[in-house]
Amino acid sequence: SKAKLFDQNTEVKTTFKDVAGLEGAKEEVQEIVDFLKFPEKYTTLGGKIPKGALLVGPPGTGKTLLAKAVAGEAKVPFFSLSGSDFVEMFVGVGASRVRDLFKQAKEKSPSIIFIDEIDAIGRARGKNAMSGSNDERENTLNQLLTEMDGFGTKTNVIVIAATNRADILDKALMRAGRFDRQIFVDLPNLSERKAIFEVHLRPLKKAKGLDIDFLSKQTPGFSGADIANLCNEAALIAARTDKKAVEKQDFLDAVDRIVGGLERRSNLFS
Ligand code: ATP
Repeated sequence: SKAKLFDQNTEVKTTFKDVAGLEGAKEEVQEIVDFLKFPEKYTTLGGKIPKGALLVGPPGTGKTLLAKAVAGEAKVPFFSLSGSDFVEMFVGVGASRVRDLFKQAKEKSPSIIFIDEIDAIGRARGKNAMSGSNDERENTLNQLLTEMDGFGTKTNVIVIAATNRADILDKALMRAGRFDRQIFVDLPNLSERKAIFEVHLRPLKKAKGLDIDFLSKQTPGFSGADIANLCNEAALIAARTDKKAVEKQDFLDAVDRIVGGLERRSNLFS
């Protein structure tokens, strides 16, 4: 059915408060919030509002969260799809899905379109020539470029895409008037991890004196998604032994479990 072609959220609750750290990236996307809320402020001076921005960074660093927060801050609908959904698509379906997505977003404008894993659609042409689905991928990419080029100056739809492989993207995507802004979303440093812990510890019943500084120091290399996962694992570990609150040791056990998983993950890819 049509409803399943992409996700649509007309009442996004996520705001910048939910995004810990990423101060630089938040500052950059604040401009997009402003474009969506006060387009006339820019267009009366003859400026053209940008159509697209690319969020670039490792997995789990909050790219989806940040894009959603832009929609939440601007109070506009959020349309999203993931590039990886196109991988096994039948001929013609990818392009028509893109067309439908843009049609809906324009009807509900001002709005945000979010395309996660855009590299699955937007890989440089000519690579992976062995794959039979290559033509389909190119059709989908071409449709996306056509839609973005077709935006009139009054179409207040902004397309945000995310990738952890900007280096493999087709340069046509980055041309002026398309995804001509790149915003970097990096792994959190120590103080950013503290801020992320604060967000994800909020719903937990914590033992007295639980030291966020200590937890942040124990988790170098963790992404925001890893920290969210860690907090949840710690709560589950504590619950298993019928504790009344989540203790330091539960977090350390959860760290061991997650680091074990991360090591297995990187061994698989090395
Ligand atoms: P991927 O590249 O794997 O799609 P992503 O960068 O889009 O990842 P998200 O899906 O936004 O990452 O993050 C997953 C979850 O991790 C979020 O829903 C949130 O719970 C947590 N998270 C990640 N980054 C942050 C952050 N900066 N602040 C708070 N929570 C975060």
